Amino acid sequence: MRTIEEIQSELNSALSAFHEKAMTAIATESQASSKTIRALRAELSAAYSKGADVCPACKTPPLGMLRSPAYTMNERLIPAVYEVGCIRCPPVLVEIDGKKRRQSYSAHADSPAGAVQRWNNQEWVTDSKIDLIPAPR
Ligand SMILES: [Zn+2]
Repeated sequence: MRTIEEIQSELNSALSAFHEKAMTAIATESQASSKTIRALRAELSAAYSKGADVCPACKTPPLGMLRSPAYTMNERLIPAVYEVGCIRCPPVLVEIDGKKRRQSYSAHADSPAGAVQRWNNQEWVTDSKIDLIPAPR
């Protein structure tokens, strides 16, 4: 498997080429480019989520991503946030210490391996946005 940096670099190049071509290229060329971009995004997601178990709820492999890059605020380094998560399973309502919380099938950490470990340990992300939980179907 290639490194995240290698895949991201090729994806950036493919996106630049795609945007450059998009104005002038004939449809078949632009379809080929978007196929390449889809494949690179899938490879990048697989690299970020390497070693992750399938989703315990729907049994599909989770996606991996850099959710937010590291940045500096007031001379303090805010670490990057990596995410491994399931895009098929909607968040659910849970109660933690007597408070209603939204629990998502996703795990966050400051490294890809850390996010995979938390995903595999089912250390789900929770927040207070309980109004954003979709109604059961
Ligand atoms: Zn799932």
